[in-house]
Amino acid sequence: MSASGALRLPSVDGVLRHPACLPLAQRYGREALLACLRQLLDELRSSVLNGQLAAIEIRPEVLAGRVGERLAQQQRSQVRRVFNLTGTVLHTNLGRALLPEEAIDAVQMAARYPLNLEFDLASGKRGDRDDLIEGLIRELTGAEAVTVVNNNAAAVLLTLNGLGARKEGIISRGELIEIGGAFRIPDIMARAGVRLHEVGTTNRTHARDYEAAINPRSGLIMRVHASNYSIEGFTARVPTAELAELAHRHDLPLLEDLGSGSLLDLTRWGLPAEPTVRQALLDGADIVTFSGDKLLGGPQAGLIVGRKELIAKIKKNPLKRALRVDKLTLAALEAVLGLYRDPDRLAERLPSLRLLTRPQADIFAQASRLQPLMAEILGSVWQVSAVEALGMIGSGSQPVARLPSAALCCRPQVSKRLRGRCLLNLEAALRALPIPVLGRIDDDALWLDLRQLDDEPAWLAQLPQLQVDP
Ligand SMILES: *Cc1c(COP(=O)(O)O)cnc(C)c1O
Repeated sequence: MSASGALRLPSVDGVLRHPACLPLAQRYGREALLACLRQLLDELRSSVLNGQLAAIEIRPEVLAGRVGERLAQQQRSQVRRVFNLTGTVLHTNLGRALLPEEAIDAVQMAARYPLNLEFDLASGKRGDRDDLIEGLIRELTGAEAVTVVNNNAAAVLLTLNGLGARKEGIISRGELIEIGGAFRIPDIMARAGVRLHEVGTTNRTHARDYEAAINPRSGLIMRVHASNYSIEGFTARVPTAELAELAHRHDLPLLEDLGSGSLLDLTRWGLPAEPTVRQALLDGADIVTFSGDKLLGGPQAGLIVGRKELIAKIKKNPLKRALRVDKLTLAALEAVLGLYRDPDRLAERLPSLRLLTRPQADIFAQASRLQPLMAEILGSVWQVSAVEALGMIGSGSQPVARLPSAALCCRPQVSKRLRGRCLLNLEAALRALPIPVLGRIDDDALWLDLRQLDDEPAWLAQLPQLQVDP
């Protein structure tokens, strides 16, 4: 630094007057520009005093450039699209089901225009938002009535509170499950004001266990689909039909929380069997609850379907108002349900089903095609191969079932000691791409499961920007 004295930071006005600031003010507004500039100058002040900055670093146009970068960063949406190459199709942390075009159109319409959300166009009188999908739900499940809430957790809470508050809820010890995000059946029961009456054991619960538990304080029997774990070996479970008969003999309602709750038998597409809503109702469950964004392939929602008088009771609960769905969700849900009327074309039109049923050979061909490119971009430190892999449905559907898939498997060719760091660096570099790419690390390699790589051009276009730290 020159002997003539320390550098002086330009004033706020000094930077603002520079022509480089004009487009920034136009783009982000004067106030945001000023606030950002002040903050930057404050941060730099001590560095300047300590002589840690060169003259060029505090020139107005350089400072304007840095402010521009910060403003752009601040303006960038926090909600970002990503590539889900984890191998888990219905990934809760990545937004679960992708909506079909029909639902996206419906959401746009509902967002843009007023609509008959709670208005009966036939009579001109006030309507009920549940009516918008009731016809479809009745047709697709055989249920008498439906009400829709924010998600399935809300559906379970509302149903328990509506039908069992201040009474006992009888449930098998094998079904007292925890689902991700701190949703635990015993806790939800407590919050719903239902006293938990657990029966049987973790692996075996018999009809006589339920029977013995019934007393004058009993309010309902609950069954929960153990969606995210499986009990194997020496097990016993009362079939729904038998449990329903037992419940009805004692004048109690049977609730069944199906979790995913498929509307159709998935085995017709070669997927693992999952109980259908229609079958649960046929077996005698009085109320069935399930998610909108799991196997159904729609928006986040919780569907409560079943007997008319019980649904009416549930809808009268003030909690229903607190848990209700918005118009965008209902619009999307109606469109998705509409696709189910034509099962033959469902796998083409519903993205979640299309992805779940994508043939392994097809995914493997894609992996083989992309392997040389990925190998070239990663360079000689990495061995990239197209391999068969196993994915999952996700969201607690069929926890033990695996989907035969294919992946790009990236293995660092470095000493064992460096491998972990190397993999984390690649993972971070993929996350830093304009559309972050999410894979999974397993067995000393980073796996990119290509089942969900639909938009190959966008993926390829950004790949040359990948910068992996050595
Ligand atoms: C996933 C699941 C829930 C919670 O559903 P959300 O829609 O995520 O709120 C409740 N019960 C079971 C059995 C589930 O699998």
